[in-house]
Amino acid sequence: MINGKTKVVGIFGWPVEHTFSPAMHNSAFAHLNLNYVYVPFPVNPEKLGAAVDGIRGLGLAGVNVTIPHKSNVMPYLDKIDQAARLIGAVNTIVNENGTLTGYNTDAPGFVRSLEQDGGITPQGKRIFILGAGGAARAISIQLSLAGAREIVFSTRVPQKSAGLQDIITGSTNTKVTEAVWGDATNAGLRKTDLLINSTPLGMYPNIDVMPPVDLRALQDTAVVCDLIYNPRETLLLQKARESGLRTINGLGMLLYQGVIAFELWTKTKAPVEVMKAGLSTIVGK
Ligand code: NAP
Repeated sequence: MINGKTKVVGIFGWPVEHTFSPAMHNSAFAHLNLNYVYVPFPVNPEKLGAAVDGIRGLGLAGVNVTIPHKSNVMPYLDKIDQAARLIGAVNTIVNENGTLTGYNTDAPGFVRSLEQDGGITPQGKRIFILGAGGAARAISIQLSLAGAREIVFSTRVPQKSAGLQDIITGSTNTKVTEAVWGDATNAGLRKTDLLINSTPLGMYPNIDVMPPVDLRALQDTAVVCDLIYNPRETLLLQKARESGLRTINGLGMLLYQGVIAFELWTKTKAPVEVMKAGLSTIVGK
């Protein structure tokens, strides 16, 4: 029940109507009897600075930040966590007595999902990433910080990952290489431990497409991951499963970024299964 002691958290986005996060967080607050509420805030990009001041002014406990604000919000914050600074994007803000600290929970959320859903840790692994946009940037930096041996980027426009390669090799020991998009020989795919699709290829409503990779080039032990969560099993994941490979969809990343944000705000262990159930009722099929 909302009363005078209720703490408010939420999400800044534009648009924000389609967010799944209120269901996930509010079910967790209710389950633990925590006096918090999570609400969506449609924040016009021109009003972002005023909205961030509103966190301080209204005493919000914190917010999530989504498209298109993840990078633009950074100059308005007091402190930024080291990994978030490297990634260049913040998706969670914590308000401690008026001091706002920015974190990126997408990236560690992804790594936790790899461990929990796929039983795979990045340490020492060769990881092949399709695409080099915002999500690829976050996860590749986190994977390299977690000790990945090599990251191979494959993008439809050559050199798209160049800046990212510089950041990773400048701050970690991970080797970074580039593979030709749609290479018919699939040379880059061999000896890959983890293949990740970070492009929207296969996302609803275009569910009949998949990135141009030949899964037969992968070793039997490889894990195939798609950041897409709608549909829950993309054509890429379906083909991988039919080839006997282990698969991971994007639902875990969505879940665990929320779990980590929840714990940052409340300093309380998140009820993961309750949050997963909250998401499952509304996300894709
Ligand atoms: P983004 O910044 O727009 O990057 C998309 C990447 O895909 C870019 O490298 C882009 O290449 C490439 N791409 C787009 N269309 C393509 C096509 N037709 N053929 C080949 N490459 C194509 O998007 P994002 O934020 O990184 O998101 C990428 C995916 O991850 C989306 O499916 C999104 O839903 C998913 N995601 C999931 C989560 C989660 O919690 N599970 C979180 C974030 C994102 P160009 O640069 O050449 O356009």
